[in-house]
Amino acid sequence: MPHMRVLITVKTYPLPSRTYHELVCTAGVLPDGGFVRLYPIEYRYLPYWQWYSKYQWIEVDAEKHEKDPRKESFRPDCSTLRPVGEPLDTKDKWRKRREIVLARGAQTMEQLYELRQTEGVSLGIVRPREVYDLVVEPDDREWKPRWQSLFQQQRLFGPQQKPLEKIPFRFSYRFACDDPRCRGRHKMMIADWELGQLFLRMRDQHGDELTAVQKVRQRFLDQMCAEDVDTHFFVGTTAHYGTWIVLGVFWPKK
Ligand SMILES: [Zn+2]
Repeated sequence: MPHMRVLITVKTYPLPSRTYHELVCTAGVLPDGGFVRLYPIEYRYLPYWQWYSKYQWIEVDAEKHEKDPRKESFRPDCSTLRPVGEPLDTKDKWRKRREIVLARGAQTMEQLYELRQTEGVSLGIVRPREVYDLVVEPDDREWKPRWQSLFQQQRLFGPQQKPLEKIPFRFSYRFACDDPRCRGRHKMMIADWELGQLFLRMRDQHGDELTAVQKVRQRFLDQMCAEDVDTHFFVGTTAHYGTWIVLGVFWPKK
């Protein structure tokens, strides 16, 4: 099985799974600037010494995911996973991170739509020309009934199951990317774990959801997409529908 060195750049909010405890999409960048997706990783169920942060290198054995047609998807042997060193720091406008993450430059959504058709590309980094808004829409408050009955079974037979809260809103960026063909109508859902965690933390701290939504807006729009920030979006396609979503934000100062 090939041995890989990956700079982790995104972790998505966990989704329920029939086969695993939960599904987290973890993606990152190889030393040569290529993108890779590692899944499944049951992140919260890994032993603590294996927990890795964003912008930390990990080493892991992984093989091409046979059931997943997406070009960058690899199945890791989690027993071999180990974090290497500290996460790369943000000094000098994220210089160390930029050298790896932007080694091959940014793309546009229009280019990625094409590359998906021609080469099966399913991950990329996009530099929006303009971010118009962070759209917030109400979403289901509970996981779908089939997942709830699965959770009940898991609780009965596996007391080690950790609670997984459903986020009752859907957050999306509306933006234009930097392509002459761009009509400026991208609206893409944000699946970043950091967003879900922030929402839950703020809701618990302030005791209401609308304040939590405001805090998410402040961070993901006002800060991450500020005038003096060189905002990029990590983007990828979903396994089932192939829809492009935002997996995380790369936001060094300009
Ligand atoms: Zn575009």
